[in-house]
Amino acid sequence: MEIVRAKDVVYEYIRRDDEGNIVGITKAVDHVNLGINKGDFVAILGHNGSGKSTLAKHFNAIFLPEEGTVWVDGMDTSDEEHLWDIRQSAGMVFQNPDNQIIAQVVEEDVGFGPENIGVPTEEIWKRVEESLKAVGMYEFRKYSPNKLSGGQKQRISIAGVLAMKPKCIVLDEPTAMLDPKGRKEVLEAVHELNKKEGVTVILITHYMEEVIDADKVFVMDGGQVVMQGTPKQVFSLVDELKELRLDVPQVTLLAYELKKRGINLPDGILTTEELVQNLRGI
Ligand code: ADP
Ligand code: MG
Repeated sequence: MEIVRAKDVVYEYIRRDDEGNIVGITKAVDHVNLGINKGDFVAILGHNGSGKSTLAKHFNAIFLPEEGTVWVDGMDTSDEEHLWDIRQSAGMVFQNPDNQIIAQVVEEDVGFGPENIGVPTEEIWKRVEESLKAVGMYEFRKYSPNKLSGGQKQRISIAGVLAMKPKCIVLDEPTAMLDPKGRKEVLEAVHELNKKEGVTVILITHYMEEVIDADKVFVMDGGQVVMQGTPKQVFSLVDELKELRLDVPQVTLLAYELKKRGINLPDGILTTEELVQNLRGI
């Protein structure tokens, strides 16, 4: 079962001067086709400006395609009747945690979304508790978000999305502004949600290390999906990724260089353990 399907999606930004004349057009999403299965952990990779954020905003109807169609949980995003169902099905988490937190107390912030859509109070508190526990932030429920680290704030943002009971979470570079510890916390929380709660995760990132545990990876360039496959398949294509100005995980690169120098190793090694095992066998 697919939770997201994009068919021939095109989206352009049109720049105008003061008089309203068109001075430039950027085709940010250029005939994208993709499908994301329910329950999967999917990563979208691509250098700056490749169209990741623009595409992601189609997954909860912030943007509507100019050409083509996007379906979320079977609903056409351009069908206004389904707008709120779609927004509820696919929650978004953005890069900057400071822009996403509204309330003065953590638990109020997490309860804000459900309150807004009229969820009964008792149910709100239940959801707040569950969501905060799911991201490991329950003990901070009475804190002021200002007192938290970036990683903690980002987990609060994720809890806020979770409280809406989405089937799918889209995270647009959620760790870009975090230190390594914060990045690890957020990544672990997101993997937990995926495994334990079965929430579909769409993670946009340019940190290769965040991609290796994904079920599927899409690589974007110039508004198009130019590669897709398992992390192993994608990271086997070291030269192609370099051409797209993307790195590969360090251990993958090391294995690749060793192989080039005549050591018999398989393509797409993703972890140190895998490399060690293969080297032992030689
Ligand atoms: P990514 O998230 O991969 O960095 P974006 O989707 O943000 O890529 O951008 C894709 C392209 O669209 C880039 O060329 C970018 O400059 C352009 N773009 C993004 N947002 C806007 C905007 N609000 N107005 C005009 N052009 C934009
Ligand atoms: Mg972006």
